[in-house]
Amino acid sequence: MAHRIVLATRNRKKLEELQRLLDAASLDAEILSLDSFPEAPEVAETESTFAGNALLKARAIAAATGLPAVADDSGLCVDALNGMPGVLSARWAGGHGDDDANLDLVLGQISDVPDRRRTASFACAAAVALPDGTERVVEGSVEGVLLRERQGANGFGYDPIFVPLGHDRTTAEMSAEEKDAISHRGRAMRSLVPVLSELLDS
Ligand code: IMP
Repeated sequence: MAHRIVLATRNRKKLEELQRLLDAASLDAEILSLDSFPEAPEVAETESTFAGNALLKARAIAAATGLPAVADDSGLCVDALNGMPGVLSARWAGGHGDDDANLDLVLGQISDVPDRRRTASFACAAAVALPDGTERVVEGSVEGVLLRERQGANGFGYDPIFVPLGHDRTTAEMSAEEKDAISHRGRAMRSLVPVLSELLDS
């Protein structure tokens, strides 16, 4: 019988990405979302690292559902801002998940930064927690540069200003498949798949 895994996020866009990445890995597992568990808790991201927050969410959802849970935490790390917004990426402008305001704030903060120093990376930690307390976390990242204006309408968050190194388009101008192939979340989730297979089969 296929295993069941819960994806511990209520962010619709991220859920779609995670689901697509796990589907592509052809894991022998049925992937459920938190929609199936309306009573599962909202988990505050109180840690200072992506790995810490991903583990926090996976652990809480595994405990609440009794099923293996996968969670990620991710963000944009801007070199000229000493790695910020980092774990605060989703709430940089104050309100949680206001993508437009977050992006505008970063653009304003680095408006005087010359092109050669507009480097940044997206980082992602992906964690799995089992109800028996077993936990694993892996990470992935992608380096790039930040534009001065938005380009593209795909993706979410800071995608419209992020051009991955070696590319000439933002991640908001890429198809979902193109982005998955190089993205921080794609890399982290692909690293998580063998870990999941090992844990679920043991
Ligand atoms: P969290 O992982 O839900 O805490 O939030 C991650 C935040 O980082 C998002 O709200 C976005 O602002 C940003 N972020 C993470 N991954 C991406 C991405 O692939 N593209 C654009 N922005 C991202």
